[in-house]
Amino acid sequence: KGTEFLLKADITNAKLEIEWFLCDMLNCNRIDLYVRFDEPLLTSNIEQLRQFLKRRKNREPFQYILEKAPFYGRDFVVSPAVLIPRPETELLIDILKNKTGIRSCFEVGTGSGCIAVTALLESEIGECTAIDNSSAALHIAEQNSKKFNSNNINFMVMDFLKEIPQGKFDVILSNPPYIMKDEMKNLEPELSFEPESALTDYNDGLSFYRRFAETAKQLLKKEGIILIEIGDSTNLFEIEKIFSSKNFSIQVHKDLKQIPRVIEVSTC
Ligand code: GLN
Repeated sequence: KGTEFLLKADITNAKLEIEWFLCDMLNCNRIDLYVRFDEPLLTSNIEQLRQFLKRRKNREPFQYILEKAPFYGRDFVVSPAVLIPRPETELLIDILKNKTGIRSCFEVGTGSGCIAVTALLESEIGECTAIDNSSAALHIAEQNSKKFNSNNINFMVMDFLKEIPQGKFDVILSNPPYIMKDEMKNLEPELSFEPESALTDYNDGLSFYRRFAETAKQLLKKEGIILIEIGDSTNLFEIEKIFSSKNFSIQVHKDLKQIPRVIEVSTC
């Protein structure tokens, strides 16, 4: 019944989502839903399932309903104050893991903190300064850094387009808001639940790349690099122009779908 209900709202993997929800609620594996099929649900569980279906039918993201989302094998706390971590972003961590000599990091737009926390846990990075212009987002990021015991993160409320922190870093990491203003009306309904300022720069989607090019010399140590995510419709030609005009070279990394997803910026 639930599957039919969600399919009517155009949620294509309705059955799977309900199974995931039930597994989470009942703390069991998917196979148990079938092996223990004859066990009735408690009334309270049925009510929880009903609430889930109601919210999901309105296209509220699954991860906001469950208040968590996986990133690099760990469940991060999320709320509508932060962007939901995406699997494509994990590529940033894969690239970092293959680098040596990178100890300090600066993250712009940390949101849930998934990148900074994972970078500390998975790479040689030992300390991180992570900023966001939203204090509500940083509140969630702090919860995640506590949850995973990655204490060496200095969180700061800061608008990167206006200010930069003190100090120099081995790497700058970011998954910035890169959707252009004109594209915002064509997005999936789920995205309207996410913080708008985490999705778009209210401009041509390139504001953050320009700002990185402008501030990198001040923020990077000698030999330092920048790893920044780009979007499906980010114009690589423009990106190249932005960085080469400041004497940087770029290397493009593709994601699992063979789509350019991360650019690595270094001094020529
Ligand atoms: N750094 C966070 C992430 O990658 C948030 C990015 C953002 O809000 N644009 O999920």
